[in-house]
Amino acid sequence: MRLILLGPVGSGKGTQAGLISARFGLPHISTGEIFRTNIKNNTELGKQAKQYIDNGELVPEELTNNLVANRLAETDCKNGFILDGYPRNIAQAKFLETITDIDLALMIDLSEEKIIARLSSRRMCSKCSQPTSLDWMVDGKCEKCGGEVYTRDDDKPEVIKNRLQKQAVSQELIQFFKDKGVFEKIDATDEVEDTYALVKEVLDKVNND
Ligand code: AMP
Repeated sequence: MRLILLGPVGSGKGTQAGLISARFGLPHISTGEIFRTNIKNNTELGKQAKQYIDNGELVPEELTNNLVANRLAETDCKNGFILDGYPRNIAQAKFLETITDIDLALMIDLSEEKIIARLSSRRMCSKCSQPTSLDWMVDGKCEKCGGEVYTRDDDKPEVIKNRLQKQAVSQELIQFFKDKGVFEKIDATDEVEDTYALVKEVLDKVNND
């Protein structure tokens, strides 16, 4: 299954992608996570992307599109993948169209009020790279693997505001996938497991079609 997860920042896309990846054995490709790893390792890509990410801006198309094209060409993507955080606009969607078909673009939706509450309590695990939350952590560590956690620089309140404004999923992008007949949306207001049950219902339907 070739899956795109759409949704506002902080809607829980990353968490749902991790669950889908474990259940369906598909690689979870998060462009944001790839950029963060590159920044941590001080690579050329990391150096070029850092200033945009720190300001809550989108990284330029060319860097992002190349990164995705190279990643999707790897052998683990042969039977499908989960794209998390890409495409973020029509230009990226049109580029993606030139390299692969898509079975489903699933929007994980959430109100702005809930997003701000979630992002301010979000932490990232430095060991398993999965998102966690102040509410889930055990003894100040990642509840999944016991790793040390950190707060993403772009989860600071002033950057969150910029990301919400500049990185909202546009109606145009939604319409692009609706026109292709691959768009579905679920509401992520409830707990992670409840949201995952909704996600799984949609995925099972697409898998059986
Ligand atoms: P995320 O982890 O998806 O919230 O992404 C973190 C940051 O990485 C974003 O705020 C952008 O600066 C950058 N980024 C991630 N995905 C993309 C993309 N598809 N296009 C451009 N920039 C991106």
